[in-house]
Amino acid sequence: MSAKTFPHWAFAVLSLVVVFASACQSPSTENAAGSETVQAPTFVEVPGFSGDSAKEYVADQLAFGPRVPGTPAQLRCAEYLQNKLLIWADTVLRQSGKVTAFNGTELPCYNIIGSFNWNASHRIVLASHWDSRPFADQDPDNPTGAILGANDGASGVGVLLEIARNLSQQCPDWGIDIVFFDAEDYGMSQVENSFCLGSQLWAAHPHRENYRADFGVLLDMVGGKDAQFFWEDHSFSWGRQTLDHTWRLASRLGYSKHFIAQRVPPIIDDHYYVYQGTGIPMIDIIQYNGQTGFAPYWHTHDDNLDAVHAETLEAVGNTLLHLLHNPPSL
Ligand SMILES: [Zn+2]
Repeated sequence: MSAKTFPHWAFAVLSLVVVFASACQSPSTENAAGSETVQAPTFVEVPGFSGDSAKEYVADQLAFGPRVPGTPAQLRCAEYLQNKLLIWADTVLRQSGKVTAFNGTELPCYNIIGSFNWNASHRIVLASHWDSRPFADQDPDNPTGAILGANDGASGVGVLLEIARNLSQQCPDWGIDIVFFDAEDYGMSQVENSFCLGSQLWAAHPHRENYRADFGVLLDMVGGKDAQFFWEDHSFSWGRQTLDHTWRLASRLGYSKHFIAQRVPPIIDDHYYVYQGTGIPMIDIIQYNGQTGFAPYWHTHDDNLDAVHAETLEAVGNTLLHLLHNPPSL
């Protein structure tokens, strides 16, 4: 993702949408409330989110090597993500497309979606990017090699896989869609709209017709040691209620050291394109403080498994799981 603000957004081509599978749960999960407003009546405790489990899913992704679009690792990791979601989600889809990188290279792009309560009208969408950057341009020693992207990519996916595992055991009545965006980190900051290619593709062609979610949450770089998450200003402008509600939940759960309710400057990340393309107010939970920027190992080869801490993953994941069961009004 880029800290620059871009005035308009890029073009990406959809070639195919594949319905990958549909699984175990009954389709009769339609939200009984229909289009009526749903209020969670009391605080729902949902134990079960494990930071250690989320970190195992991070390690699984890293075992494929850098997940760079156009490489065999991309295909292997895409299959891994699909197979994991098939265990837990009601419906799993793979959106396959072509996107054009900043240098003109045409890249295969796979957005992978796992849905719970497909027929519910009220929905929450969760997202993270699963690709890793093809060059370590912040690395002083080897700036050209691809990075593992343990924190920058795999951490958010690891949390969402653990969320999916939990939802398979206890899911609220509303719909939840987990979207893994490809090709987020293949950009150059000098080139407009060259990051977030997978989310641009999805925002132009969501995985189902007339797709709508009440709100969304993006996770990016959510595993750093002692990471702090602030109110990123784009998120504030269109998702203030969700930000406020989420940070209050985090405080209630004892994670105030990670969740700091202070505004920081806006950044361009997948949530920006989701909002611009679909109008869904998606917030970004991201380690970005607006001053020193991202973690010191950002876009270097030190973004490896050592950079990811189960305690931080658990703080984020447990907060998010409680948000899913105790959302602001839908
Ligand atoms: Zn990145």
